[in-house]
Amino acid sequence: MKLKRRWPARRVWAYIGVLAASLVVALGIGWRLFSDRIDNDAYDFFFKRNPPQSWTPESLVLAIDENTLRRMGGQRNYRTQLAEALERISAARPKVVAIDMILADASTEPEDARLERALRATPSLVIATELIDDKWEDPIPRFRPPDAVLAQVLPYKPDGVSRLIPLEQRIPRDRRWALALEAYRVYRGAPPPLESPDDVEVAGIRIPAPNKHGQDRPMLVRFLANGIPRIAIADLVSRPSLAAEVTGKAVFIGVTALSAARDRLVDPYGRDIPGVEIHAQAFETIRHGQFLVRADFALVMPICVLLVIAAGLSFGLLSGWPAYIAAALVLVAAHSIPLIFFHRGVVFSYTAAMSTAGLSLAGAAAFLYFSTRRELRKSESDKVRYQQAIHFVTHEMRTPLTAIQGSSELMGRYNLTDEKRKQMALMINSESKRLARMIQTFLDVERLSEGEMDMKRTPFAARDVLESCVERVRPLADRKQIRVFLDQPGDSSILGDRELLEYAFYNLLTNAVKYSPPATEVHIESSRDGDQLRLAVRDQGIGMDARELKNIFKKFYRTKKAEASGEVGTGIGLSIVEQIVVNHGGRMEVASAPGKGSVFTVILPVGVTASAH
Ligand code: ADP
Repeated sequence: MKLKRRWPARRVWAYIGVLAASLVVALGIGWRLFSDRIDNDAYDFFFKRNPPQSWTPESLVLAIDENTLRRMGGQRNYRTQLAEALERISAARPKVVAIDMILADASTEPEDARLERALRATPSLVIATELIDDKWEDPIPRFRPPDAVLAQVLPYKPDGVSRLIPLEQRIPRDRRWALALEAYRVYRGAPPPLESPDDVEVAGIRIPAPNKHGQDRPMLVRFLANGIPRIAIADLVSRPSLAAEVTGKAVFIGVTALSAARDRLVDPYGRDIPGVEIHAQAFETIRHGQFLVRADFALVMPICVLLVIAAGLSFGLLSGWPAYIAAALVLVAAHSIPLIFFHRGVVFSYTAAMSTAGLSLAGAAAFLYFSTRRELRKSESDKVRYQQAIHFVTHEMRTPLTAIQGSSELMGRYNLTDEKRKQMALMINSESKRLARMIQTFLDVERLSEGEMDMKRTPFAARDVLESCVERVRPLADRKQIRVFLDQPGDSSILGDRELLEYAFYNLLTNAVKYSPPATEVHIESSRDGDQLRLAVRDQGIGMDARELKNIFKKFYRTKKAEASGEVGTGIGLSIVEQIVVNHGGRMEVASAPGKGSVFTVILPVGVTASAH
């Protein structure tokens, strides 16, 4: 497998930054904005794909179904149907009877009297009440035997799918527990629930259902795949022996007829489910004591961080198809994590996992794409600059060569006076020396930048070098009427390679002259600062902005202003200057602003053996 070259630290940090941003976006925006819809869909999908473990229900629904309505007088006769059911099962002794019907108003006699009798004859009774306009719709007193418990029956129905029930509902000073919870408590003959901010404990079972942050203790219902057994009241009437089925059970009585149901809900499996069965299912969830809980941030966060790290490593360490395979594996992991947790009863946000993996992979891929593109562009422009430099050097060499060629031709072809001939020979000699020097400098510079050159270490006076540079640059400066001043030359000496340092200063001086308008001044200042010698070249030229300043020491870099000035240059001079100064244990400082001139300062350690103070 192909591993990548090591990255420079800056690139690594930028990459980590991009990944961290992906994580923040994924957790922050992704989780909040889209999560509910997608997470709910994923939740239902898990139910269908991996129904949670099933058990034999201890509950049963006595149903007012279509058949019961048809045979027993329709919706107007609910009370009679309920009374009939209670009468028929009382001998079979169910452990608890939970009625999911609102008995908040009076109807007609003798119907109500019969229901009242039936209710009073039923021990262990839990009756539904609903919160309407901030008031509990409690059963009227005659339908409320002294031992009966009242419980609320609010179902959540955000998208028509029932997943959660609130275990409590409250108006100031009047809180009701859920029908399923009270039914379980009565079923177990237990005292009222014990509460903490995180859970509710009833008959030794601790239900994770917080009421922090204004929550109403939502509990995820672990719907049984086979549903809750149902007996239609009409069947109970025609076959009284069915009543034996309720012995020792929790009986939930309610309307299941779709035509009469007030709201239609489906369970996560996608089946129509009447409210009364939701309560029976919730009862089963509590009774069995295996709860589905939502993964909290302390679990989601580290797992998402791991996903981001995996995504980052996929693209950071690998390239080509192995990177894509690794990325695909990260996505598969992100997809599987919620499923694996679901198996263990933990509901892990599918959106959090998928958006973290997706965004961090996308972020990593985009980062690589753009940084590779930038590198490519940079290496291309390096190449172009290098070609320009070669072009420049060959161009420079042509001038002395032409002179040599011309003179030698003249000498060969014409009869020249001795004096003329001598003059030409001298010129040939000096031009070829110039050529040799140029080649030497170019080679030196190349070797120096490769770090191969031996540096001499001899003591010499800084002042000598500066003076000789000023002399050399003078003709150039005169042409532009630029005056060059050597201010406070001082008498420090330097231990190092005189030729190289002279090359460096000469370069700084020619730049100062090149990049200044005519009739300005260039000053050279030298000063001592402890063990350091500061040699500054100050001009009143075109200057540079902060971005340009960052680049001028790079090989072949030239600012736009420099290009536009018409001054020839290669953009390698400063890179060599810096190299020379660094090789002498020193450093460069540059201060400049566009149009305000520049100061290039060479800071060198003062020669140990040659300090002239
Ligand atoms: P060049 O051959 O282009 O002069 P250098 O490496 O010496 O190459 O300088 C690199 C670039 O830095 C120049 O092209 C110019 O843009 C900028 N520069 C150097 N010295 C000065 C200066 N004194 N004032 C303004 N710009 C400068």
